[in-house]
Amino acid sequence: MSLAEFPVRSQFVPFAPPLIGEEEIAEVVETLRGDWLTTGPRTRQFQAEFADTFAAPAATAVSSCTAGLHLALAALGVGPGDEVVTTTLTFCSTANVVEHVGARPVLVDVEPDTLNIDPAAVERALSPRTKAIVPVHYCGHAVDLDAIQAIADQHGVAVIEDAAHAVHAKYKGRWIGSSPNLAAFSFYPTKNMTTGEGGMVTGAPDLVERVALLSSHGMSRDAWKRFDRAGSWRYDVVAPGFKYNMTDIQAALGLRQLDRLGAMQARRRQLVARYDAGFKGNDQVQTPTERPEVESSWHMYVLRINLETLTIDRDRFFDEVKARNVGLSVHYIPVHTHPYYADKYGYRPGDIPVANENFERMVTLPLSPKHTDDEIDYVVEAVTDVLRQSRR
Ligand SMILES: *Cc1c(COP(=O)(O)O)cnc(C)c1O
Repeated sequence: MSLAEFPVRSQFVPFAPPLIGEEEIAEVVETLRGDWLTTGPRTRQFQAEFADTFAAPAATAVSSCTAGLHLALAALGVGPGDEVVTTTLTFCSTANVVEHVGARPVLVDVEPDTLNIDPAAVERALSPRTKAIVPVHYCGHAVDLDAIQAIADQHGVAVIEDAAHAVHAKYKGRWIGSSPNLAAFSFYPTKNMTTGEGGMVTGAPDLVERVALLSSHGMSRDAWKRFDRAGSWRYDVVAPGFKYNMTDIQAALGLRQLDRLGAMQARRRQLVARYDAGFKGNDQVQTPTERPEVESSWHMYVLRINLETLTIDRDRFFDEVKARNVGLSVHYIPVHTHPYYADKYGYRPGDIPVANENFERMVTLPLSPKHTDDEIDYVVEAVTDVLRQSRR
C-alpha cells in the first residue's frame, strides 16, 4: 500500500462535528445572563417543543440518553431476577443500564440488511423472567416496531426504545417518539442534534411522569417551582430517585438546535446520496439500506467492506483510510465481546454470528450536516483508493 499516488488532504475530515450556529450561542449567553441556570423554563419549553415536533404523548428532558434508559428501566420496575432482551450491536450503555438495575441483559443478533435487532431472535430469547425488550434504532433506521410490539404484547413485556440515533426518524409514517413506549433520545455532540450532553424521554404521560420524578431525586415537586414566587418550600421524596435532570443551559442549545433540525436532516440526506452515488457499482463495498416503510434519520453511514475482495482486513483498511486524513470509526464492538459481558455470561464472539461477522467488515464514515460536498467526495476518493490498492 502506498500513499505516493494519492493526493492526501492537508486538512483532516472530522468524523461528526456538531453544527452550532449563532442562534444557539446567543440563547446560551442569554441564559447565562439570567437568574436560572438549571432545570427551569427553558427545559420546560424544550420538552414541550420536542413533544410537539414528534407528536410525543409526553416528554421529559434528562442529562443523557444513558440516564434516560436507566430511568425507563427503573420506572417500569425492572430489577434483580429480571431479564431484558436487547441487541448486541449497540453502544455499551444500552446493556450497562440493565446491569445498573440488577437485571440481566440478554443479547441477541441483528438482521443482515439493517443491522437492527432481529424480531425472530427476540422471540427465541424470551423467558418467564423477561421484563422488557430494548430495541435500538441502529443508525437512525427504525426497527420493525410492529413485529417487536406484537411479540411484547403477546408476552406482556414492555418495549423501551433506545432512540439515541433516531431523532427525526419515521416508521410507517409515524415519528419515532410518538408511541406510548418509553423512548430515550441522545443529544451527545456526535448525534443528530446536540445539547452538549443531554437526552429526552418520550412516552405515555404516566410513565414519563414517573421518569421525570425519578430524574430529580424522586421529589414530588419540581425544584424550580420551589424557588418560584408561587412555589412552596415543601417537597416530598416518594422514591430514592437519581440526579439526572437537564439544565436550562443545555435546553437553550436544544431549543435552537430543534429550529435547525429540519434543515440539518435535509443536508444529511444529501450527503448520504452523495456517498451512495460515489460507491455505486463498486463490488468491494456494501452501502447501507433504507426499507420502504422507514425514513431513516441517517445518524451514521456504515459502510461494509467485502473482505473476500481485499488482501487486508478491516483494521488495516481503517488505518489506511485514516492515514489519508479521514476521521472514521466503528459502530459497534458487539457488547457480548466486551470482557465484562463475555466473562460474566460466557459469551464467545461467534455466539451471535450476524452481528459479529458484520462488525468485522464495518467502518463508519464521516457524516454531519457541517460537512461540505468536497469533504464527502474526498472521503469517497480515499476509501476507493484503499480498496483499489488492496484488491485481491
Ligand atoms: C450515544 C448512544 C447512547 C448514549 O447516549 P448518551 O446521551 O451519550 O448517554 C445510547 N445508545 C446508543 C445506541 C447510542 O449511540
